[in-house]
Amino acid sequence: MSADEGKANMALWAGGGCALAIFLAPLALILCALVAAGAVFGSIFGGGILGSVLGGIFGGLFGGSGGGGGGVNKSANFSLNGGGAPLNTTEVPTQHVPWVLKAGSTCALVGPAVIAAQIEQESGWNPKAVSPVGAQGISQFMPGTWQTWGRDDDGNGRASPFDPGDAIMAQARYDCALADQVGGYLASGKATGRPLDLTLAAYNAGPGAILEAGGMPSYPETTGYVARIHSLIAKYEAVDQGHGEVPKGKKMAIPLPGHPQVTSPFGNRVHPVTGKLKLHTGTDFGAVEGSSVLAAREGTVVSAGWNDAYGNRVVIDHGTIDGRHIETTYNHMSALKVRQGERVSAGTVVGAVGTTGLSTGPHLHFEVRADGQYVDPAPWLGVE
Ligand SMILES: [Zn+2]
Repeated sequence: MSADEGKANMALWAGGGCALAIFLAPLALILCALVAAGAVFGSIFGGGILGSVLGGIFGGLFGGSGGGGGGVNKSANFSLNGGGAPLNTTEVPTQHVPWVLKAGSTCALVGPAVIAAQIEQESGWNPKAVSPVGAQGISQFMPGTWQTWGRDDDGNGRASPFDPGDAIMAQARYDCALADQVGGYLASGKATGRPLDLTLAAYNAGPGAILEAGGMPSYPETTGYVARIHSLIAKYEAVDQGHGEVPKGKKMAIPLPGHPQVTSPFGNRVHPVTGKLKLHTGTDFGAVEGSSVLAAREGTVVSAGWNDAYGNRVVIDHGTIDGRHIETTYNHMSALKVRQGERVSAGTVVGAVGTTGLSTGPHLHFEVRADGQYVDPAPWLGVE
C-alpha cells in the first residue's frame, strides 16, 4: 500500500492547494496569499457566528454526528455524508491511520474518509512529495500556507510539512477553516452549492475563487480536483456492516470494519499481563488504535463505561437468541461512542479501538455471554 510514484506525480501535476493557484494567474497568486489571511480570520471568528450558522446547516444535513446507524450511500450522496462515515482503515497506510482518524475528527464536514481521499489526490500518500511549483509533503502545502497552518503535532520538536502527522493535522485545520468560510458564504447567500464540494474547491483554488464565482469555480483544474476526490471517498469509507443486518448465514457481524485478524482466540492461555493461566474470555482482533468498533448485532447498550481490567467497555444485550440470553462486550477501547440505554444495530459504532485496562497494545477484546457465561465468540461470528 505504499505510494504509487506515477500516480503521486500525476496528482502533483493535477494540483494541490495553492500549487494550482500559482499555475492559474497572478490574480490567483494574490488569492493564494489571501487564503492564508482569510483562513486565519475564519479560525479566529469561525467559532462565533459563522460557527453557529454552520452548525445549523450541517446539523440539518447530517442529523447529528453519530457514525454507524445510517446506511452509507456510497456514491450518490457522498457530499452530504462526507463527515460521518467511519474510516475504512484497510485502505490507509497503517502508520497514517491514527493521524487520519484524529484529523478527521477536527470538524463535522471533513471526516476521515475525506481527509484520506484528499491525501491520495494530493500526494498519493508520499510524505516526501514535492511538486514542480514547490508544494511539499503528503498534504502538498505551499511554504506560505504551511507558515499559517503547520504545527508540531507529532511532538518531534519541529513543525514540518514532510512529517505526515504535522501535515495531516494541518490539512484538517485548513480544510475546516475553509469549511467555516464557505459555510459563511452559503449562509449569507454569497455562494450556492454543496458545502463539501465548495470546501474542497476552496482548498484547491482559494476561497476567493468561490466568492467570485458565487459557488463552484469553473476552472477545469478545480472541478477535476473535486471530482477526483469524490471518486476516492467511497474507497475510504468503511463498508456499512449490512445496514443494520447481520451477514446472511451468520448470527453476528464482525465487530470491526474490513477483515481483522484474530490475534488470540477464546480459551485457556497464560495471561499476557498477569502471567497466570486463565480462561481468555473472548476473541482478540488486531486493529489500529482509533479504528471504529462496531456492534455485532442489534440490541440495547446495558453499560458503557470504565472497568479496571477491561478499560473502556460497552456491553450490549441482544435479548434471547436460540433460547439463551445473549450479550456481547467490547473492551480496552480508547473512546466510547454510545451510552447506556441506547438502541444499536449491527454496524453501529460503539467506540474506538484502544489499549485501556489490562492490555498490552491496541486490539479489540470481544466477548459473547450466553446466560451470563462467557462462550467462544467464533461460532457466533462465523470465524475460525
Ligand atoms: Zn482478549
